[in-house]
Amino acid sequence: MKYLGIEPEKIKIGSFDFTCCEGCQLQLANKEDTLVDFLALLDVVNFREISSHRGEDYDIALIEGSITRADEVERLKKIRKRAKILVAVGSCACFGGVNQIKNKFPIEDVVREVYGDDPVETLPVRKVSDIVKVDLEIPGCPVSKEEVERIVVNLVTGAEIKFPKYPVCVECRRNLNTCVFDLGQICLGPITRAGCGAVCTTGKTGCIGCRGPAEEANYEEFRQILKDHGFTVRQALERINFYGGLPEMVIDES
Ligand code: SF4
Ligand code: SF4
Ligand code: SF4
Repeated sequence: MKYLGIEPEKIKIGSFDFTCCEGCQLQLANKEDTLVDFLALLDVVNFREISSHRGEDYDIALIEGSITRADEVERLKKIRKRAKILVAVGSCACFGGVNQIKNKFPIEDVVREVYGDDPVETLPVRKVSDIVKVDLEIPGCPVSKEEVERIVVNLVTGAEIKFPKYPVCVECRRNLNTCVFDLGQICLGPITRAGCGAVCTTGKTGCIGCRGPAEEANYEEFRQILKDHGFTVRQALERINFYGGLPEMVIDES
C-alpha cells in the first residue's frame, strides 16, 4: 500500500502464547476477509498461528495466556524488554482467565488430580500485569477480532483507544433479546463491560463476565436484580469468579 507514491514503514508486530487454549490467536487468524487489510498495515515478525518466521524485532507484542511456569516468567520479561508496546490479549492474559480457578485449590491437589502419576511443574496462575508492565488490556474469551483489529490500527495510527464503559445489557437490549433472567438463568450482563455484541445472551445463555467489569456497573442494582429473580449473590459467585476479572461481591443473603 502506497501513500503519495511512498510505501510507509510498517509497524512490526509479534504475537506470543503462554498458558491458554490459543483461541484468541485463532480468532485473529480467522476471518480472512479482513485479515489481508489488517496485515497490510503491519509487518508480522512473529505469530506462530499464521507464519513460520520467528523475528525478535517487534514494536508491538500481543500476549495471550496466563503465566503458570518459571520459564514463562523469563520469556515474558524478555518480550517486554524488546517491545515498545505490550498488549495483554484475552481474559487469560488480562485476569488469569479460566486458568485462575486453579488458585482456589492447593496446588499439589490440582497437580495430582490433573496429571496423576505424571506431575508437571506448575505455579499459581498470574495475569500478565503481575509480571511486567502492560500498556493495554483487551479482554474477552475469546477476544473480539474486530475489537483487536480496531485497537491495533489505532495504535499504529496514534488514534485514541476507547472501550465501552457501559455494560453488556445495553447491547443485549439493543439486540431486542428476551432477558435470560426471565428464562430462569443468572446473567452477569449488568456488571460486565460491553463490546462483544452480547453474543452469549443473544444465544439465550447468561453472560459469565469474560470482558471484566463495566466502568458504569451498578452493583447494588445487580444485587436487586438477582433478588427479584429469586437468586442470591452466593449462587452468582460461580460465574463471578469464573474468569477472575470481576470484583469479589460480598455475600449478603438477607
Ligand atoms: S481468553 Fe479464552 S479463548 Fe483466549 S486464550 Fe484464554 S481461554 Fe482461550
Ligand atoms: S441481564 Fe443479561 S440477558 Fe438480561 S438484559 Fe442484561 S445482558 Fe441481557
Ligand atoms: S456476553 Fe458476557 S460472557 Fe459472553 S462474550 Fe459477552 S462479556 Fe463474554
